Order: sequence, then C-alpha cells, then structure tokens
Amino acid sequence: MCRHAAWLGPPRSLASLVHEPEYGLLRQAYAPRMQRHATVNADGFGVAWYDPELGEPVRYRRAVPIWADANLPGLARTARSHCLLAAVRSATEGMPVEESATAPFARGRWLLSHNGRVARQAVRPLADDAESPCDSAWLAAAVFARAAAGASLAEGVAEVVTLAAGKDPEARLNLLACDGESLAASAWGDTLFVHLGDGEGVLVASEPLDDRPGWRAVPDHSLVTARPGALRVEPL
Ligand code: GLN
Repeated sequence: MCRHAAWLGPPRSLASLVHEPEYGLLRQAYAPRMQRHATVNADGFGVAWYDPELGEPVRYRRAVPIWADANLPGLARTARSHCLLAAVRSATEGMPVEESATAPFARGRWLLSHNGRVARQAVRPLADDAESPCDSAWLAAAVFARAAAGASLAEGVAEVVTLAAGKDPEARLNLLACDGESLAASAWGDTLFVHLGDGEGVLVASEPLDDRPGWRAVPDHSLVTARPGALRVEPL
C-alpha cells in the first residue's frame, strides 16, 4: 500500500502535505504509522498542483525515494495551490518501478492516485489503454474514461471500484482523485482519513499528517466527495 494525501481549500504549499507536518508524506515514506501491507514507500513519489493560469495540473514524479530528491523541498515550498495531491509508492510485486507507474496519474485536468492492488485482468477490460502496465495506471485510465464520457469524478471512482472489486474480491482499492475543484476518494481495504476546518479547506489522506484533533477515520467501503467547505462520506 502506498500512501497519498490531497488538499482542497485556500492556497497552501505542497510542503504542507509533504515536509511540514510531523507525519507528512516524507515521514510516511519511511515510517508510516498505519500502513497494513508494506513497511516503507521507497519506490517513487509524485506531487501535483493546479495553477489557475494553466488548464492542466503540473506534475512532478520520480522513481526514487522521496527523501533522495534534494530538489523537492525547495520546489514543494514554492509550489502553492488551492488543490494539491501527493503520493509515495511501495510497488506491488510484479509491477514496474519507473516514473510512468508512479502516481499521480493524469489525463487533462484529472489526477488519480491508488493505495492497494488489483488483479490486472480485473481492470484491463475497464479502459482502452493506460500509461503503464501498473494496476494503478489501469484503474486511473478507467476512472478518466468515465469522466471523459460525462460522469463526475466521484461517479467514476464509485463505478470503477465496484466493478473491479466484483471481478477481484481480494482487491484493495483506495483511490484519490481530483480535478482542481473537487476531490473524490474511496476507502476499500485500507485506511483513509479526512480533516475539515482549516479555513474551509479539506484534507484527505491515507493516514493523519499530524496529531491535531479533527482527523476522522473514513469507514471501509465508503466514497468521500469534497468541495471547499463541504464534505460527504457515503457507503459504497
Ligand atoms: N499496486 C500499486 C503499485 O504497484 C500501488 C501499490 C501500493 O499501494 N503500495 O504501485
């Protein structure tokens, strides 16, 4: 299981997900507190943010441990946005370790990260093509295809999780997607937390980024949808 986190609200820096909190993604890469299916997340990382001047998010991914990139702290301090997403990766056995297999995956203005694993034959029929043979890339392509056909991101996440789980009952399918204006996430087999209240902002993360009060665990088999100041958790 990898770890991921996203912010939607008043602009803040990427460092607010990665470096500043005591248990930010930097720390979660080598000492996650709640990870069930791996001990470290050293197979790469990805960060992305939305710039109001650009139609599409800006992405920076690498297939090295997040702590090994000496350029990231400066980049993360200066990259500020109302919508941020970051992920650290522990590659599932048999999956390639390379940039194109590293979340977040993107298409147009959509981004998606995945914590978990799924049999590839369960997701390949759900999309025409994917950026990488990695299971997560196929899940992302399946959600993006539904969004491109007019579904909301949340509808796409819900449908793909349900279909993939139907074909692979062992699948773990914690997805986290955004489009710059909303977040959608699923809890399906691993931990997921939300935190509301920082000036109308919302944080969604695999595990709490710090020990402040206000973090709420999302029940397994749930769908989370968030817009600034509004958060909904419903059963999947
Ligand atoms: N299966 C995905 C991968 O190989 C995600 C792994 C994870 O959640 N640890 O990258």
